[in-house]
Amino acid sequence: MGIPQPFDLPVYVTKPLRPSLDAYVARLTDVWNSGWYTNAGPQHQQLEAALSDRLRVRHLSLFNNATTALMAACRLFELGGEVVTTPFTFPATPHALAWQGLQPVFADIDPLTLGLDPARVEAAITGRTSAILAVHVFGMPCDVKGLQEVAQRHNLRLIYDGAHAFDVSIDGRPLGMFGDATALSFHATKLFHTAEGGALIVGNAERHVRVNLLRNFGIADETEVRLVGINGKMSELHAAFGIAVLGELDAERVKRRHVARCYRAALADCPEISFVPSDMQAGDGLQYFPIRIQRDSDAALRDKVYEGLRRFRVHARRYFYPLCSRFPDYMNLRGSAPGNLQVAEQVAQEILCLPFYGDLSGQDVTRISEMLKYLLET
Ligand SMILES: *Cc1c(COP(=O)(O)O)cnc(C)c1O
Repeated sequence: MGIPQPFDLPVYVTKPLRPSLDAYVARLTDVWNSGWYTNAGPQHQQLEAALSDRLRVRHLSLFNNATTALMAACRLFELGGEVVTTPFTFPATPHALAWQGLQPVFADIDPLTLGLDPARVEAAITGRTSAILAVHVFGMPCDVKGLQEVAQRHNLRLIYDGAHAFDVSIDGRPLGMFGDATALSFHATKLFHTAEGGALIVGNAERHVRVNLLRNFGIADETEVRLVGINGKMSELHAAFGIAVLGELDAERVKRRHVARCYRAALADCPEISFVPSDMQAGDGLQYFPIRIQRDSDAALRDKVYEGLRRFRVHARRYFYPLCSRFPDYMNLRGSAPGNLQVAEQVAQEILCLPFYGDLSGQDVTRISEMLKYLLET
C-alpha cells in the first residue's frame, strides 16, 4: 500500500446538520413579524411539543443549553454535598455540579457501556452523597436498572446527562423515562441541534412546573418570584432553527447509519480496532463514531494514529481524553486517583472518534480507513 494522499480540505469530526435556508427564512419571517423573540413564544411552544412527541415524554422543558439544564436539575432536587459521577465525559458534566457548589466524586465505568458501573458507584457513596449523575456516553444506555437499584438503596436522586442520547430507547422505552431527570444538549455538534440549546426531562407535572420556574428567574407572575431561578430560556430564533433542523433529522439518521456500516466494513479486518458499541444494534445515538485502538505493549498507539490522521487533514477527536478527573480543579478530589478509575483511564487512552456525518461520502470513508490502516502498519 502506498502513502495515502492528504485531503485537500480538512475533514472534521462532525458537520452540523444544516436545514434548508428557505425553511429557516420562512420561520424567521414569522418571528420577525410577530415581534416575539423569546419567553416561550410560538416557535418555542411548537418545538417543545414536537420534541415531547418524538421522544415520547410528557414533561420536557427547552433550555438555552444542557449545562444550564443540568444545573437546574441540581436545584430542582436541592442537592447538596457530593454527587457521584463519571470521569469519562465532556467537562460540562462535573462543571454543572461544581457551579452548584456540589463536589463531584468520580467512580469508574463499565468497560462495555462506558457508563458508570453501579458497583463502583455504590462503593463511592458516603453520608454526604445526595445524587448520582450518569452519562449515556455515545448514546449507549447506562445500566439504568443497576443504577436505579443503587439510588433507591441509598435514597439518592438519579440524574442522567443524555447529551449523546437523542432518540435512544431501551427495549422500546424512551431513555428520557429513566431516573429522576434527563438533560439533553442541542449544541451544534450534536445530532439534533438548535445551534445552542438543550432540554430537561422530568417525570411529573409538579416537577415540570418547577423546572419552568427555575428556567425563568423563578418568576411565577408579575408580583411573585417564587424561587431562585436562572435565565435558561431558549430564544425564538433558536427554536425556529431547531424546528427546521428537525425536518432533516430522519434523512440524516439514514445517511449516518450508512456511513457507520461503511466504516465497520472497511475496518473489520483490523485487529487493533474495536467498535463502540461492538454491535450496531446495541444502542447508538448516531452522534459519534468511536473506535478503540489497542495493541499489546503499545500505550501510545492511539496518539500516533491521531497525530498521523491530522497530517492527512483528518481531525478525529479523542473524546474523552484526558478524563475530567485529571483536570486541575478535580484531580485532588476523593475518587480522582487514576488507580480508582482504571477502566476509564484505559478507555481514555484507546478511544478515537472518527469523522461522522451524513454528508461524508463512501469514498471519504474508504480513504480515512486506508489512512488508519497505513498508520497502524507503519
Ligand atoms: C455537549 C455535552 C454537554 C454540554 O452541552 P451544552 O448544551 O453545550 O451545554 C454536556 N454533557 C455532554 C456529555 C456533552 O457531550
